[in-house]
Amino acid sequence: MGLVLIVVLKSPPTLSSLWKEGAYSFDCQTAEITISGPTWGSALSGVWISKHKILDNNTIHYRKEEAPHVFDIIKKYNKNFKCASISTWKQIDKFCVPSSDFFWCSTFEKDEETIPIVQEKLLNEDYDAYFVHLDEVDHAGHDHGFSPLVPQYLNAIESVDKNCEKILSSLKQRKTYEDEDWLILVVTDHGGTALTEKTVDGYLGIHGHNIPEHRTNFLICSGNSSRLTHKGKLPYKPRITDLAATIAHFFLDEKDLQNEYFDGLPIGIKPPRKHFHFGLISTASEMKAEEDWKKMEEKTDSNCDLVIFHGNFHNQEEENTLKKLIVKCEEKGQKFSVIGKFSETSKFLFQKKFFISRGKTSFQQCEYIGPVQIFLLDSLEDNHSTIQWIEEYPPSGDTGFIFCDVEKRESLLKHEKFQQILKKNEWKLVDHLFPVITYTVSQ
Ligand SMILES: [Zn+2]
Repeated sequence: MGLVLIVVLKSPPTLSSLWKEGAYSFDCQTAEITISGPTWGSALSGVWISKHKILDNNTIHYRKEEAPHVFDIIKKYNKNFKCASISTWKQIDKFCVPSSDFFWCSTFEKDEETIPIVQEKLLNEDYDAYFVHLDEVDHAGHDHGFSPLVPQYLNAIESVDKNCEKILSSLKQRKTYEDEDWLILVVTDHGGTALTEKTVDGYLGIHGHNIPEHRTNFLICSGNSSRLTHKGKLPYKPRITDLAATIAHFFLDEKDLQNEYFDGLPIGIKPPRKHFHFGLISTASEMKAEEDWKKMEEKTDSNCDLVIFHGNFHNQEEENTLKKLIVKCEEKGQKFSVIGKFSETSKFLFQKKFFISRGKTSFQQCEYIGPVQIFLLDSLEDNHSTIQWIEEYPPSGDTGFIFCDVEKRESLLKHEKFQQILKKNEWKLVDHLFPVITYTVSQ
């Protein structure tokens, strides 16, 4: 007869409220050397061991220049960026530390020493970012085993959860909290196994080996930030290098990020601000695509990121013009999209992935293309069905444009629902009648 063992675990209330309000994963993957030096190195620089060369907890190999702390990367672009690094683990002072405006390490490696320092800083000073390291769970794991069957380990989780609650309540007590945008990332640097557990290579518990139980940890991306986009479990396994990448994407804009390299990718937040140009070639009423193209070239220095061809392509002649212009886009490496109604002969368009047409409807929606989303509203349609259509297919991008003519614009703006949609998504109404439009979007 087999033994059925049921372990009922109480989720830690503070951490579970954070993961319920944000993006999370219990399948985050850490580096192959699953000890704190190398793993924190990857978490805070955003690159793997091969680059930062932190091989253990007493490393002398750390290549700071090639793998700087993410806070130092941000400081490069924003001289006013202020950060604090507060840690229970003492050995972290050899590496994994930014040129902080405030740096502190616990003398006796006790979280109870660390928490008041964090609280004091949060309540009385203005740092843009904090790194806080708590060590109690790791200590309990080393002493008693990393396992949900070990009561001391569970007690340590409960205790660290209470400490997280203290930190969060100090954060929320900040006088300016309501107007501030906080991203809260919670991560462990490695997993672990119980003292008695034998792993594939005969290793007895704890952590440090290149096995799934040691490599797997959790990651939460939460907070009150308006930049948070994803709620719930991440549909993929994030990596510990995603931590620094997320922090960098939170603080830097697109232009600065282009100079930096991370092995990780940002998780759970909106993309950084980006300047985006696009041109509209409207062929809706007559055969003037080529004329518009010329105007666009003059106006935009032909460097738009995206060219939108809008029109009804009914005959061979119109399609040939379109084909010719598309080839020009391809040659220049410009993204392009075609929105409109098409005849059976327009098959060449269907082979391209870029366009989405709603067929007979006079409203054409072009799905998310790069950082903007576009709606084209036909001026012939009445406002009632326009609103209905928008409700059915609401704009879902962060930023976008709704093209329509001047008259329609005026009357649409009187609709409360329409105003709400524009406000909620930071959308802009753009007049339809201009054949060539160049915009710089700052997302
Ligand atoms: Zn440890």
